[in-house]
Amino acid sequence: MTEVLEKVEGLLLQGLRKRFGELEVLKGISLEVKKGELFTLLGPSGCGKTTLLRLVGGFELPDAGRIVLSGRDLTGLPAHRRPVNTVFQNYALFPHLTVYENVAFGLRSRRFPEAVIRSKVEYALGLLRLESLVHRYPHQLSGGQKQRVALARALVNEPEVLLLDEPMSALDAKLRAEVQVELRNLQRRLGATFILVTHDQEEAMAVSDRIGVMEGGVLLQVGTPDEVYERPRTRFVAEFLGVAN
Ligand code: ADP
Repeated sequence: MTEVLEKVEGLLLQGLRKRFGELEVLKGISLEVKKGELFTLLGPSGCGKTTLLRLVGGFELPDAGRIVLSGRDLTGLPAHRRPVNTVFQNYALFPHLTVYENVAFGLRSRRFPEAVIRSKVEYALGLLRLESLVHRYPHQLSGGQKQRVALARALVNEPEVLLLDEPMSALDAKLRAEVQVELRNLQRRLGATFILVTHDQEEAMAVSDRIGVMEGGVLLQVGTPDEVYERPRTRFVAEFLGVAN
C-alpha cells in the first residue's frame, strides 16, 4: 500500500475519521486531489467540509487515516511544517499592520533576508493587483480587497496546496463572480493545487476542475462538475444540485 501512496503526485486522503465527543464528523474520507487541480468540497452546512480542510491544513489531527502529499506523509505534522496554506473565511488580517506587512509577516517570522522578502511580497501583491494599496491598513480596504490581501498572504509562501474555506461568502454577488474568475486564473497561472470549501453549488460548478459532494461526514460523489451534474449518484446529490425531478 505504501508503495502505491508514494507514487501518487498530489494529495491523497485515506480513510480520514474525526470525532468531536459523541459526534462523528468525518466517517472515513478517502480522496485523491491531483497536483495542479482546483478541487471543491461541496455540501450543506455542518457536513464536515471545514473539519476536513482543517485536517489537511494540520489544525486538527485525525482519529484515523492518513494524509500524504506527493509521497510525503503529513498526517502527524503541525500546520507550520506542512507545505500547505489556508485562507480562512474571515481573512484574519492583522489590523495594526499595513497590506505590505500583512503579506510579509510569515516571511519575516521565517527570517528571510529583507531583499528576498521584498521581492516575494512584491510578486504576490502584483499577482493580486494590490500594488497601489501597500500602505493601507485593513480597515481602509473593501471586502474584496481584504480577500485579495488574504490570498496574497497565503500565496507568498508558495504553498504546494492552498486551502480556501468559503473565501467568497462575505462578498456580494457581483464581486463574488469577479473573484471566482480571478481565483481560477490565478490557480491556472500558478499551477498550484487549490482545495475550496463551499456550500454554494453554482460557485462549485463555475470554478472547479472536480468537485466532491459531502453529506453527514461522508463523501458521496467525486467527479467533474459535468459528470456530477449529469449523473448524480444519489438522490441527495441530485437534490442538492437542484437537478432532482
Ligand atoms: P461544514 O464546514 O460542512 O459546515 P464543519 O466541519 O464546520 O461543517 O462541522 C461539522 C460538524 O462538526 C458540525 O456539527 C459542527 O458543529 C461540528 N464541529 C466542528 N468543529 C467542532 C469542534 N471543534 N468541536 C465540536 N464540534 C465541532
